[in-house]
Amino acid sequence: MPQRIGMLGGTFDPVHLGHLRSAVELRECLSLDRVHMVPASMPPLRDKPTVPPEERLALLRLGIGRTPGLMADARELERHGPSYSADTLASLREEYGAQARLVMALGHDAFLRLAEWRTPDRLFELAHLVVIDRPDHEAPLPDTLAELIARREVDSCEALFQHPSGSLLRLALPTRMAISATEVRRRLAAGSSIRYLLPEAVEARIHERALYRQH
Ligand code: ATP
Repeated sequence: MPQRIGMLGGTFDPVHLGHLRSAVELRECLSLDRVHMVPASMPPLRDKPTVPPEERLALLRLGIGRTPGLMADARELERHGPSYSADTLASLREEYGAQARLVMALGHDAFLRLAEWRTPDRLFELAHLVVIDRPDHEAPLPDTLAELIARREVDSCEALFQHPSGSLLRLALPTRMAISATEVRRRLAAGSSIRYLLPEAVEARIHERALYRQH
């Protein structure tokens, strides 16, 4: 059986339980061998993150701990310039080979901006896309996005894994968590509690280093 590999990219500014629980459930739902969680060094479509990539990676490592099948992947920190997911997928494709089933997972909010990404068609050449429901996932898609995914959508995991790449699956994971890094940062800046929004070890390091105290 070909390997099944997942990639969940993000800013992880900071990592929270919404990311981690989604990665675990994604792995279980799709029977993935591994999920690479890849912090962007320089996210192309948003403001510069408040915390440097090495620190976001350290928080991610702490958050993952020994969770089976999840790994913090530093490859975007080793490249110069903006962090394009197509480059990351190309490097995973090279590592796992042409037959591996490669899945790029993203939340619905990130999916809504997919048509603005650099070379979105190339993403489908390299991988399948799996869109994880988040609030607002029932809103109609912008036309450019609808065009981009036309004829790519499948409705089951079996259909997805018939080929190494090229399809799109929308997935409702069992636990939907309305946690966002924006809200975590807002709470920290306001001096409010972030307990139970992210792993305790991540919280402890954030406090020790006084991260996210001001914008
Ligand atoms: P921010 O609030 O700063 O925009 P975020 O919480 O959305 O951050 P990102 O690092 O931008 O986190 O997200 C990385 C990926 O994880 C994206 O594809 C995003 O949609 C997804 N994601 C983030 N939070 C959740 C969540 N609570 N449940 C499911 N997916 C999530």
